[in-house]
Amino acid sequence: MNVVVVGGGMVGAGVAVSLAKQGHHVTVIEAGKAAISEGDWDLRISSIHLRNVEWLQELGTWSNIRPQRKFMYTDLAVQTLDGQRLNFSNDDVDALALGAMVENNALQEALWEQFSAHTITVYSETRVEHFDLADRSVTLSNGETLTYDLLLGADGAQSQVAKAAHIGQRGWDYDMRCMLAIAEVEKPLPAATWEVFRSEGPYALLPLSEHQACLIDYRSEQQWQEFARNSEAIQQSLNNVFEPHIGKHTITQFASFPLRRQRALQYISHDSVALIGDAAHSIHPLAGQGVNLGFADVQELTRQLVDQPLSQALINYERIRMQENQQMMRAMDAIHVGFRSLHLLPRGLLALGLALVDKVAPLKRELVRKAIGF
Ligand SMILES: Cc1cc2nc3c(=O)[nH]c(=O)nc-3n(C[C@H](O)[C@H](O)[C@H](O)COP(=O)(O)OP(=O)(O)OC[C@H]3O[C@@H](n4cnc5c(N)ncnc54)[C@H](O)[C@@H]3O)c2cc1C
Repeated sequence: MNVVVVGGGMVGAGVAVSLAKQGHHVTVIEAGKAAISEGDWDLRISSIHLRNVEWLQELGTWSNIRPQRKFMYTDLAVQTLDGQRLNFSNDDVDALALGAMVENNALQEALWEQFSAHTITVYSETRVEHFDLADRSVTLSNGETLTYDLLLGADGAQSQVAKAAHIGQRGWDYDMRCMLAIAEVEKPLPAATWEVFRSEGPYALLPLSEHQACLIDYRSEQQWQEFARNSEAIQQSLNNVFEPHIGKHTITQFASFPLRRQRALQYISHDSVALIGDAAHSIHPLAGQGVNLGFADVQELTRQLVDQPLSQALINYERIRMQENQQMMRAMDAIHVGFRSLHLLPRGLLALGLALVDKVAPLKRELVRKAIGF
């Protein structure tokens, strides 16, 4: 089958390699340049859960990722400011780790390195100028026309493929920003990621090495406006938040990202078009699930295409993935709203939930397994 993938980000590159390994003829069209991982950690980092680490190992990608840009973690904790805490550890599920922090660029680069081995054709710095969905062809900005059996929109939240297929999107801005910073930390850090919930929005730490971490601080747009892009004030605020947890540290770079929730109303169209990854669902990053859901889409689509006609495979893909992705989006919203609520009841229930889960071993084990993708 001829597959054209629009978007060569982590999910687009992942689906390209996965389908090429299944024997399909795959072409990737990417508007940007090929990702290069070099120098210090880039700010765009993903927590990849264990199931997807294993999948990337099966795909042959994991060993290609620069060793300095992936870091396995064994523990995960969530807590409230008033001290209710829930700890998960690899021992809870008899695994070597719960997942890994990976630089997005390094992961994308590792996937792209596999393109030539699987004879995947890639057009970088190229866009689709014209879609003829009835005729199953696309005309590129370099003038070439490609025909396809399956067109995949892996082109992120502003998906051009979704627009061309008249697939509606529903979403809203959270009116929040996520500040990301890379910090050099004096005291050695455990291989543990943690998140603290407070009413302004959570803050979290992703370990990147024994002495490096990615610090994450979510604040309302209004609070960020108050910082008035004053980088000293921002660094001071980050230091105030994180120093009690990690001691002396130096921030080497930081940036902030607006947060938006969005979902496609359909994942498929024309018996030959499917959306995948952020093109289909873009989710609050508070639980680090975005690209994990995208990789789960890739695995389901690949599974469905094994032994049935394309149209049936797409119907099954949409049914299974839409349900799971929406469940996760609703869960993120409940946590987001619950902890930000001014009302004691939702906040109290969530805090009570943390304490209860920590004490009920089978429930805790089930939750950890879910969090790491099983
Ligand atoms: C602050 C923050 C923290 C996050 N942390 C995590 C985390 O810890 N764990 C996790 O799982 N997820 C996390 N995410 C989410 C994760 O980054 C996204 O889910 C993921 O990047 C989506 O990958 P994608 O390939 O679907 O889309 P994108 O990364 O958006 O890639 C789309 C690609 O398509 C290309 N493109 C766009 N339009 C076109 C076009 N018209 N033609 C050709 N190419 C095009 C783009 O150049 C890009 O390369 C986080 C997100 C944010 C904002």
